[in-house]
Amino acid sequence: MFETNRFFCLTALSLLLLVVPADATPHLDYVITCESLQKSELELVLTVTGWEPDTLSLQGVPVYLDNPLAEGNGAIVSRLEVSDGSGEEPSGLRRVEAGSAGGLVLQITPVPDTLVVRFKARVAYRHSRQTRDYPIHLPFMDKDQAWLYGNYLFCHPRLDVAEPASVRTPVDIRLSFDLPDSVPLVGVPSAELAFENLHELLSIQFGLGRFLVEETEADGVPVSLIYKNGDEFDEAERETLSERTVATVADLKAFFGSIPYPTCSFLYFRDSGTGGLEGSYACQAYVPAGVDLSSLSDRNSRVFAVTVLHEFFHTWNPITLFALEDPWFKEGVTSYYGNVLSMRLGFYTVEDYRLDWERDAVRLEDGSLVGDIPLTDPRIWQKEYDGEDWRHLSYTRGHAVAMLLDVAIREVSGNNHSLDDVMRLLARRHLHGGYTHEQLMEAIHAATSYDAIPFFDDYVDGNRVPTVEDVLILFHEG
Ligand SMILES: [Zn+2]
Repeated sequence: MFETNRFFCLTALSLLLLVVPADATPHLDYVITCESLQKSELELVLTVTGWEPDTLSLQGVPVYLDNPLAEGNGAIVSRLEVSDGSGEEPSGLRRVEAGSAGGLVLQITPVPDTLVVRFKARVAYRHSRQTRDYPIHLPFMDKDQAWLYGNYLFCHPRLDVAEPASVRTPVDIRLSFDLPDSVPLVGVPSAELAFENLHELLSIQFGLGRFLVEETEADGVPVSLIYKNGDEFDEAERETLSERTVATVADLKAFFGSIPYPTCSFLYFRDSGTGGLEGSYACQAYVPAGVDLSSLSDRNSRVFAVTVLHEFFHTWNPITLFALEDPWFKEGVTSYYGNVLSMRLGFYTVEDYRLDWERDAVRLEDGSLVGDIPLTDPRIWQKEYDGEDWRHLSYTRGHAVAMLLDVAIREVSGNNHSLDDVMRLLARRHLHGGYTHEQLMEAIHAATSYDAIPFFDDYVDGNRVPTVEDVLILFHEG
């Protein structure tokens, strides 16, 4: 993603000047404008104040964020205008020709007190190898609708030399929309939005234009169900989806103790296969045509319910609750809870879950990487969608480790404690922030009195892989 060689030879020294001191919190103010959907582009204005380092490097879009990333159809960022508080182009500005794969767009030394960057972001994407292998809905804009993602829009300052440390660095972000009545905003509140780090901003999903939106509420939280039209799901299905979505939101609010954002939205659509994508404020899930979602009798309908809960669980893990040094935690723990909480809600059966493991457990034994890499290896974040070998490190091995960890805590505590307690304590301590490996271990001990060091030495920091028997035997005990 970073095209490291070119970047390194161009700006090694300036990178070292890049890191934002912990006590200095820059302010990033974004305004999005879209005059009409006809143009397939948006205009963005970023105003940076309170910037301390000597140099500012502006990261272009699209940018990888630990999800399959589409390719730009040509350069995405255009008509870049840079000015200081008085409207003048600052000296020390160096522009970089941004390609279709994001990368750096400009560098500036010294940085004026107020830096204003204005640019156009085209909405023109095609499938990459990642999105072909792991489908997401490509960001799109047609004359009636648009569905967009933050990491395809928001050029942003790099706040650290490495990812994800840069996007998780605390920063004060404001986002506001300046839209005509003819371009309604969908999926997020229209008021000014605030974020505490770039990851949350870049994880936003929202729609523009005409969608079918059904509003409801879950335990005091406004919930929107968003459909591309009224044809993809019939009324009975939409009614059931509303009930199930409300139950999912209410259950996770009770599980974590609070909801990270004031509203929640779910984009549901038909596509080949079943899958989804997480986001701040809004997430999405899709299911093939012909799967009747008005009942749970069809296993595909149950798998869809698990997918929705999985994507919504990501609103915490990792979007607002980030494991800084445990890249396995995002998909490992979420895959576990996607199933466990769906079973508790009656959306999924123990037999369904056992069948999944019957099918997947073999991957615990035959992946080329599965036993070679500790689950703390930072490359997992970068390469998670580079192929099945990398993906199964978190989705299968990480999932099995989360399951064994929960069972170990329950066994040692006589079922008085569980991984649930750990997730709740992490949310109380670190919501809208991140936690280190050490803080994770400390939270496990504080929440459950379980000493997780030997377990982590084996399965997380070490390369011990749970066996098929380790997993399947759990379905025969109890
Ligand atoms: Zn996931």
